[in-house]
Amino acid sequence: MYQSGKRKWVYPRKPKGKYTNYRNLVSYILLLVYFVVPFIKINGNPLILFNVIDRAFFIFGQPFYPQDFFILTLGAIVSLISIIIFTIAFGRIFCGWICPQTIFMESIFRKIEYIIEGDRNSQMRLDRQEWNTEKIWKRSLKWTVYLITSLIITHFMFMYIVGYEEVLKIVSEGPFTHPTNFIVMILLTAAFYFVFAWFREQVCTLVCPYGRLQGVLIDKDTVNVFYDFNRGEGRSKWRKGEDRKAAGKGDCIDCHQCVVVCPTGIDIRDGQQLECINCTACIDACDEVMEKVGLPKGLIRYATENEIENQTPFKFTGRMKGFAIVLALLTGILGYLLTSRGEMEAKFIKPAGSTFFVRDGKITNTYNYTFLNKTNDKKVVTIKVIEPIHGEIIYSASSKITVDRDKITKGTINISFPEDDMTLSKQNITIGVYDLKGKLIDSYKTYFEGPFKLQF
Ligand code: SF4
Ligand code: SF4
Repeated sequence: MYQSGKRKWVYPRKPKGKYTNYRNLVSYILLLVYFVVPFIKINGNPLILFNVIDRAFFIFGQPFYPQDFFILTLGAIVSLISIIIFTIAFGRIFCGWICPQTIFMESIFRKIEYIIEGDRNSQMRLDRQEWNTEKIWKRSLKWTVYLITSLIITHFMFMYIVGYEEVLKIVSEGPFTHPTNFIVMILLTAAFYFVFAWFREQVCTLVCPYGRLQGVLIDKDTVNVFYDFNRGEGRSKWRKGEDRKAAGKGDCIDCHQCVVVCPTGIDIRDGQQLECINCTACIDACDEVMEKVGLPKGLIRYATENEIENQTPFKFTGRMKGFAIVLALLTGILGYLLTSRGEMEAKFIKPAGSTFFVRDGKITNTYNYTFLNKTNDKKVVTIKVIEPIHGEIIYSASSKITVDRDKITKGTINISFPEDDMTLSKQNITIGVYDLKGKLIDSYKTYFEGPFKLQF
């Protein structure tokens, strides 16, 4: 036996009030950051870039390579634990204030809808009415503006992957010169359009894994948007001049204003729900009502369940402290890895199938070198054998090798040893890479081959 039904479209009333103003401010700042960051460079490097195609990553202008993957992974773990701690302490504040889905939906697409179709009642009326001239042009205009907005958001998102120069180049050269990029752009635009024009709050209520995690992360000491049922019940319509306390009535006047503003279509008075994204719209709506009827504000407010049920103030629980200690440790390790990350990564690999040759009493091996300069400056380096010390480098070209910033440089060198010094047919060697001031930048352990030696 199963029940079927269809989606109930949510027409939230335009929120207004103290929290809405703060949230608007935060969202405008975040949107500004989103649209400006792709154009910011530090020492010629992008501030943020996740070029998964060329496997080049920049965070705050610092280049990261696949070799630094463990640092990025640790960074991701630290971020995840931060979110967990934050969620245990402050619930879904992230969803309501910072999440890109909420920001794009409430601060861009919903606002476009309010401008074109009007507030809740006008939208409901428009939905119900026949496809007359008004409905056709309003809907066409809204969907066209949505499409253009999705295209703009997608182009900026693409800038975080390939850089703004590349996106401008793709745009100026036209879709037929870059068919793959064009198809990706179209697919992403379609996804954005689908999410914000139609799927909307279902991302938060049905799809988002973070939302699903709430059940295990939050407890009675987590701060969330709560309806104070002790104060609000039993709810009853407002009657002017009535002494509600004497009549045994609570402060909730059952006006449904908290319900009609909710972007996920729930009634906060039914208790804590996974669908609540902590957007605060119901706090503002209820405060406005309380003000009008002369009752204290805060019937719906940020609080913990313990605070509402038992008047216990917010406290840091053992779980929060445990996670905070883990976070501090991981952040310390991450900081160490970031600061001790080498300027250069050098590798010396023997070419496949290569062996040694003997000439003038010396044994010589060939190595292909690869230098990855992780800094923002060009480096000129030399190579020396560190161990055993009597190894000699024979360069195929200059002894000074230039490694451009943020580039990989490849080449070949030969290393020779006096034949008499070679005690084993295969021995370990360490090759060092030095800057022109003689500072060791990186070293690499490999092996050196010579003729077979009999061991006695
Ligand atoms: S807005 Fe406040 S008073 Fe009105 S129904 Fe909601 S909780 Fe009750
Ligand atoms: S219940 Fe209130 S805080 Fe939660 S999503 Fe609805 S309006 Fe926002």
